Amino acid sequence: MITVKEAQQIIESVQLELEAESVALVDAHHRILQEALMADRDFPAYDRVTMDGIAIQHAQFEQGQRGFPIASMQPAGSPQQKLSNPADCVEVMTGAICPKDADSVIRYEDLDIQEKGEVRTAIIQLDELKYRQNIHQQGTDRLQGEVLCEAGRRIGSAEIAIAATIGKSQLRVSRLPKVAIISTGDELVEVDQAPLAHQIRRSNSYMISVALQEIGAEVSLYHFMDDQAEIREKIARLLAIYDVLILSGGVSMGKADYVPMVLDELGVEKLFHKVRQRPGKPFWFGKRGQRVVFALPGNPVSSFAGCYKYILPWLRRQIGEAEQPQVYAVLKKKIVFRPSLIYFAQVQVSINATAQLIADPIEGHGSGDHANLLRANALLELPGEDRNEFLPGEVYPLILFRSI
Ligand code: AMP
Ligand code: MG
Repeated sequence: MITVKEAQQIIESVQLELEAESVALVDAHHRILQEALMADRDFPAYDRVTMDGIAIQHAQFEQGQRGFPIASMQPAGSPQQKLSNPADCVEVMTGAICPKDADSVIRYEDLDIQEKGEVRTAIIQLDELKYRQNIHQQGTDRLQGEVLCEAGRRIGSAEIAIAATIGKSQLRVSRLPKVAIISTGDELVEVDQAPLAHQIRRSNSYMISVALQEIGAEVSLYHFMDDQAEIREKIARLLAIYDVLILSGGVSMGKADYVPMVLDELGVEKLFHKVRQRPGKPFWFGKRGQRVVFALPGNPVSSFAGCYKYILPWLRRQIGEAEQPQVYAVLKKKIVFRPSLIYFAQVQVSINATAQLIADPIEGHGSGDHANLLRANALLELPGEDRNEFLPGEVYPLILFRSI
């Protein structure tokens, strides 16, 4: 049996070939950017007026002039005007290009505008004036040609704003993997069915598909009965279509656990089966050509842990998302765990007054107790391979599956 670390390394060594594709700007939200965004012009593109008011020459103010006749108007969206007479001013609006030969802007709040017939004069009410004030100078944020953001980012509203600014109506993003999520088991019925006494409704596929929405994978759900021939025939078909197959159930030691055997018959190369962990020990992983198969044990908490610990981080990497930093939490109460395995303890993580993440263990009734997941928001990864006790104050890696 391999360790959690070995399992992780083996999984990470397998790569999907997801070529980039172009999508419309508005459809790029939440996808992973596969091109660098470069400034097509300076940021800002021109000396931008940042306040409604007047533009003058600073030197005039320094020489003691306070009253400036308004010679013209420079609205946003109009070509640049000129301050022809240094003793005059130009009325300006936020977003306008600063008039030629003007260098400082005074907002209306600091002016008294006097009107005499046709002539309007702005009287500056300030004792001091900063040179270039209220002008967002061309190129001070970024210069033309500069890389604004690298590939590998998840596209959010800020990235969309920048892409729009630089004229990208289409963005290169990584193709989303096509994933088949398959539950197996004779005891499982559909959500809308009334189970008989010996049956339950299936939940793993729904859980996994929702977890995969974080990645934006294209998922399809299937269910197979515990029938070796049926499983073989159907998996063969899915292997022709999907990049990734995620099975749950049928990978343990039971008489009806046909999944490993069938995958072997179909030429899917087993890269490991069974990991030194709880829950989820009978986890199976393999590949055939470009197809990757994860087969998780069916107990809901086992499937859940396998999905968050291995599958989601791997998928994030396949779509080119930049590495997320590992988060850690401080254990709040003692946990005793005797088996020589890594233990993914269910915890409720909160932030204390000194900004530490505190993990409160929420013990359930084992890997079949998925109701307990409703009370937890994370798994704490306890290195139980050579320890039985985990003490308050100790710090361990965290797998968050809900926001805190
Ligand atoms: P298995 O891994 O097939 O031996 O299943 C282990 C346990 O998990 C059994 O009690 C199954 O009924 C249960 N189980 C398997 N698949 C699912 C599923 N999709 N939803 C809920 N429970 C499941
Ligand atoms: Mg089963």
